[in-house]
Amino acid sequence: MRRIGLRRPASGLSIAAFLPTPAASRQAFPMQIRVLGCSGSIAAGSRTTSFLVGDHVLIDAGTGVGDLTLDELSRIDHILVTHSHLDHVLAIGLLADSVTRRRRAAQRPPIRVHALTATIDALRQHVFNGIIWPDFTRLPDVVNPMLQFSAITVGQVLELGSARIEVLPASHTVPAVGYAVLGAAGAWVFTGDTGPNAALWQRLASLPVATLVIETAFRDDEHALADVSRHLCPSQLAVELAQLTTPTQVYITHIKPGEVDAVMTEVRALSTRHHIQALHTGQVMGLP
Ligand SMILES: [Zn+2]
Ligand SMILES: [Zn+2]
Repeated sequence: MRRIGLRRPASGLSIAAFLPTPAASRQAFPMQIRVLGCSGSIAAGSRTTSFLVGDHVLIDAGTGVGDLTLDELSRIDHILVTHSHLDHVLAIGLLADSVTRRRRAAQRPPIRVHALTATIDALRQHVFNGIIWPDFTRLPDVVNPMLQFSAITVGQVLELGSARIEVLPASHTVPAVGYAVLGAAGAWVFTGDTGPNAALWQRLASLPVATLVIETAFRDDEHALADVSRHLCPSQLAVELAQLTTPTQVYITHIKPGEVDAVMTEVRALSTRHHIQALHTGQVMGLP
């Protein structure tokens, strides 16, 4: 078994990130989180945001979803959406299309798509409108559709099978959230797309954070672009992470293809109490 980024931080929580060894990580941790995509856009080897939590829960549905087998896709019962931007939602409709026959044959219930009301409205109006894509909340028939929207609010804790997931605040150009997957000994936290986000650090002050996945979409020389698009650059990341008082294992996500080395060079130069590294597609993270 090859491990990357294995580290025991000051909090004493056992945290590990693995290259894809699902069987091994299943033994070590009650729940695993697979990184299906963590790039800010697409290119060969770069896939946009998506995480598979256990077997049945997807957080965001970027292009990384397309790497799952049809069997794996068919097992997804819940999709938690951070916000309406295309790089996070484009696979929802394609997934619904792919799994329709299998889930119907197995008499599976609709896949529940959990999102803010504003995000649901945007998906209905701009994606599942019969023009960009068919309305899978009414297909294959209105009684047993493939998708069902479910509104969430910040602070809510969703109980989805064996997964407990809290909705966290985010601050982006459209209504947005992050998520915390709550483990017995600590939380795996994903910020979603966000600029500076004081409300997040206020919440995390009373949550034992085992792993933090935080976006840093731009280099520092694109600070103005980060500001206007409500993303982070490394200097802003430093200000944000200074508000997290416990030394934490931090993974950087949402870097644009071709920019990973440049952004991570700037991130590594930051003065911080945390251990920071880049997130990788295919990485499997254990939830303590
Ligand atoms: Zn976005
Ligand atoms: Zn994004």
